[in-house]
Amino acid sequence: MKKPWFLKSPLVRRHPVALAILVGASALHSVSAASQQATPAAPAALKEWPRLRSAIPADPAIEQKIRGILSGMTLAQKVGQMTQPEIKSITPDQVREYYIGSVLNGGGSWPGRKKDASVADWLALATRYYEASMATDLKVKIPVIWGTDAVHGHNNVRGATIFPHNIGLGAARDPGLVEDIGRSTGRAVRATGIQWVFGPTLAVAQDIRWGRTYESFSDDPVLVKEYAARYTRGLQGRFDGDANAVATAKHFIGDGGTAGGKDQGVNHATREEMINVHGAGYFGALEAGAQTVMASFNSWRDPAGVEHGKMHGNRELLTDALKVRMGFDGFVVSDWNGIAQIPGCSDSSCAQAIKAGIDMVMVPDDWRNFIANTIRQVERGEIPMERIDDAVTRILRVKLRAGLFNGAPAGGRFAGSATAVVDRALARDAVRKSLVLLKNNRGVLPLTRSARVLVVGKSANSMQNQTGGWTLTWQGTENTNADFPNGDTILDGMREHAGAGRVVFSENAAGVDVRGFDAVIAVIGESPYAEGQGDIVPSDTLRHTRRHPEDLAVLRAVSGRGVPVVTVFVSGRPAYVNDLINLSDAFVAAWLPGTEGKGVADVMYRAAAAGRQAVFQGKLPFNWPGSDCGIAGGAAAVLFKRGYGLDAGAEQMVGELPVESAAACAARDRVSIFPASTQAGFQLLAAGINGELLGGALSAELAGPVMLPPAMPRLKVENAQIHTQQDARRLTWLAPAVLIARAGDSIDLSQFAKRDGVLRFDVVVSAAPNGPVTVGMECGAGCRGAATVTRALRDAAGKGRKTISVPLKCLAENGADLSRIQVPFRLEATAPLVAAFTRIEVAMDGSAAYASPASAACPTE
Ligand code: BGC
Ligand code: BGC
Repeated sequence: MKKPWFLKSPLVRRHPVALAILVGASALHSVSAASQQATPAAPAALKEWPRLRSAIPADPAIEQKIRGILSGMTLAQKVGQMTQPEIKSITPDQVREYYIGSVLNGGGSWPGRKKDASVADWLALATRYYEASMATDLKVKIPVIWGTDAVHGHNNVRGATIFPHNIGLGAARDPGLVEDIGRSTGRAVRATGIQWVFGPTLAVAQDIRWGRTYESFSDDPVLVKEYAARYTRGLQGRFDGDANAVATAKHFIGDGGTAGGKDQGVNHATREEMINVHGAGYFGALEAGAQTVMASFNSWRDPAGVEHGKMHGNRELLTDALKVRMGFDGFVVSDWNGIAQIPGCSDSSCAQAIKAGIDMVMVPDDWRNFIANTIRQVERGEIPMERIDDAVTRILRVKLRAGLFNGAPAGGRFAGSATAVVDRALARDAVRKSLVLLKNNRGVLPLTRSARVLVVGKSANSMQNQTGGWTLTWQGTENTNADFPNGDTILDGMREHAGAGRVVFSENAAGVDVRGFDAVIAVIGESPYAEGQGDIVPSDTLRHTRRHPEDLAVLRAVSGRGVPVVTVFVSGRPAYVNDLINLSDAFVAAWLPGTEGKGVADVMYRAAAAGRQAVFQGKLPFNWPGSDCGIAGGAAAVLFKRGYGLDAGAEQMVGELPVESAAACAARDRVSIFPASTQAGFQLLAAGINGELLGGALSAELAGPVMLPPAMPRLKVENAQIHTQQDARRLTWLAPAVLIARAGDSIDLSQFAKRDGVLRFDVVVSAAPNGPVTVGMECGAGCRGAATVTRALRDAAGKGRKTISVPLKCLAENGADLSRIQVPFRLEATAPLVAAFTRIEVAMDGSAAYASPASAACPTE
């Protein structure tokens, strides 16, 4: 009999007791119980927003100065102070002319639109804005303040060190490290003449489908609160360090609790949850003295029946809870055009937001109209003058406290220093501490330095994948390794430890004989995204390989060859990866480590004889899912609990994990119509509005564009991609026509209606409809029910992929007999609609919660 590899491999430390193999679900329980950290006792739940004491108390001398400045200001000057344009849309001279209080650079916005702008370039632009603000005709000149999204280091600046995203810091469970990173980030932004950071993000993400999960430290409010305090102390302190920057606690409040993890969606928390879960981070940050708070895009519908609406317009929270009750005396900034989402408002006009408590308005582009409109609203009495005075008082207070009146940005201790944006040792340490070891059967890790290693996977040599969103560009895409002069890939680290001669890299393992190696390291995972672009849409599941089949392919190519496989999973969130874990002997969650990829190999390899061994110490900041379906309401089967994480010496085995077929999972809570995942035999056809067939066989990939009917075309149909290659069909309407899916037998969908089921599809609209568009079902002769979705399609035009849902109850109300459906999908439209469709399905789980308030009822427009 062939000896198993682990008895002859030179890589493995022997653990005789580790050889007991635990299988299946019971294995998981014993593993997680054994290696879970004790969870700190949750503090007693608060019933009311707490009264807080800020580390920065009111200072009578400053208050007196503020009164003096304010009394000499005109209304236009005051409104100018409350306005924050984006650097692409405002010149220094306009800052002078309009008394602008602040500028920001958005994600991927650089001085002179130059991605390779140097620290000196950044400082030069900051200096020009500053000098312009000091050249106004104000009696007391008010320096402008520049804000930036330095959310994992000074991430818009070429050459700056990029730290792990917050989720990785959450895994590190090291408050001191977080404080150091805050301090380092303050130094980096001050080097470029910037004094204000839009961070820390204090979201307590409750649903890992949210595209901003990686900006959240953890789903544990206790940890978020502690980190909030320590990061704020490091970054801002009481402006008592030599390079502090103003901190922003964001996004207030409830951003991490939206239904279905939909970015900017609806939070359904109870009041108590809002305070105790989503509020926790603010208590920490405000006590530490955070001087600004950013309002959140989400809205809040309390299950007790109270509709709180969009946070940007909510006085009860922004003013009563935050400013009055919690005693916050800094200022509230709105998010990017966030005011426009309040009904009745636009990018450039929103009396309600200002009255609710927004003090500074982030109005990236349309700032000139905003100033004019706001002045008019004050003059007409729509916004009380006292509210304006209060807002400007708060802005001046923060500027005075932060020392802005003491001199130019170029006078700061680190101003202009290219080395001050670099802090590689700290970041590398953070990477080491953030790694969570999920599986290490037979002690594969750490590897010996003499091992011959094959490295595979798309993220092994990719600065872009390891840095993630909010890196040089907003989405973190369009970056190459050359954009990171001060950084190393994960592969570089392997080469440093083992010597380049022992490391062979082959991204997709094509044509490589695995058996010539002692181990394979596969570095795989997600590709970058930011904000809503990263949402896992309702028609998708938590299964990583559904979005990234290439990762499954590469592991299949190397696994089962008698050579141990170590997988490093680079991602912004936990994901359902049972299939990948089964193909790996060891599995490491590496999150989004940033520029210091070498920190990964530091822990994976044995230290040199004289060196100190870095050990795995990260613990999961979120639960890790063990199922890819049925996750609504957080009920996803948990594979590894928050707090789980092995150390390399642990003698635990993770047995073979159950892997449900994607279809089995789907069948439980959805019926896939196109593409069909089962043998249900749905057929996609094109028809005229009276039912006459124009052409069929659209379900299968088309050989090329087809005109239907060929002689007198009413529809053009072609292949398109929405999620994966050729998964969609793009339809160009030339005349009235219908897209229909027909079932082999009639199907009974009444169960779905009972559980708030929906008919939904993913769509990319490239030309908006003019005439009405309906979506519905047919149930035999003369039996049909439909809803109008014109408005939804029009809103989706030009916005990329959107999911449109129609409640089944609504189709039933309009005449569909759900117990005998023959056509589960019928979309009728006419020219000029052009749209690509995929993931047409009937589903029940999570979809009702996900639907926007408008679509909870029957859409009629
Ligand atoms: C994000 C904020 C960010 C702001 C400025 C918004 O879209 O939600 O987190 O600070 O843009 O870039
Ligand atoms: C900006 C980001 C901003 C986003 C909001 C982007 O264009 O670069 O900073 O957060 O828009 O939608």
